[in-house]
Amino acid sequence: MTSSHPVLEASGLTRTYGRGDSRFDALKGVSLAVLPGESVAIVGRSGSGKSTLMHLLALLDTPTSGTIRVDGTDSTRMSRAEVNHVRNRTFGFVFQQFFLTPKTTVLDNVVLPLKIAGVRASERRRRGLEALDALGIADKAKNDANSLSGGQKQRVVIARALVNEPAVIFADEPTGNLDTSTGESVEQMLFALQRDRGITLVVVTHDPDLAARCDRGVHVRDGLIVDAGEVAA
Ligand code: ADP
Ligand code: MG
Repeated sequence: MTSSHPVLEASGLTRTYGRGDSRFDALKGVSLAVLPGESVAIVGRSGSGKSTLMHLLALLDTPTSGTIRVDGTDSTRMSRAEVNHVRNRTFGFVFQQFFLTPKTTVLDNVVLPLKIAGVRASERRRRGLEALDALGIADKAKNDANSLSGGQKQRVVIARALVNEPAVIFADEPTGNLDTSTGESVEQMLFALQRDRGITLVVVTHDPDLAARCDRGVHVRDGLIVDAGEVAA
């Protein structure tokens, strides 16, 4: 493929929180295209609008104005069911606030997206174990998710993000709560997925090393993209 069309294309995104005196323009007109198979780091200071942008790109939130196209389809023209379908089938999430369900096995946590998608139990189990195996934690499949260490939990979150074989994985500070060596192994896994399976990675990070490993960095400042980085040839 010499040229490919964007998997994600944001045009003129704004997002205003609150109203009246507490009104705050978190995004002030952002346009960004992400190509299939790219890894993109979204960087910038705390409060600059990184998570807001990622939530919009991932269709977890709707913009105040502007559009997001996923594989060419304008999300504002999708029904709620279509949005849910795209989110569940096309996207995987590695967000700290997407907790694992406690008192539930690791495997059941991992296969949740498949359950939502209506995949039958035996197939869920097969694919869930395969994802856990890819992350090196198949031996924890039957453990309570709560009993794991931070790094193990993060691997389970990644296994859950990839179990659907998504086109795009969104990760918001994926290594933020991890010690250096665990964070390093989580990073390696994310980039291995990008390299080996052609998954597109969109990563919000404070970590300059993680940002440097991505194909490009998109720098957000005060609700605007001030540098969209070099688009990979
Ligand atoms: P970042 O991820 O770069 O730290 P965010 O996108 O989370 O920044 O937030 C951007 C700005 O929007 C911040 O000033 C934050 O306080 C504000 N903000 C984020 N979410 C909300 C919300 N739900 N209500 C009001 N303000 C918000
Ligand atoms: Mg954030």
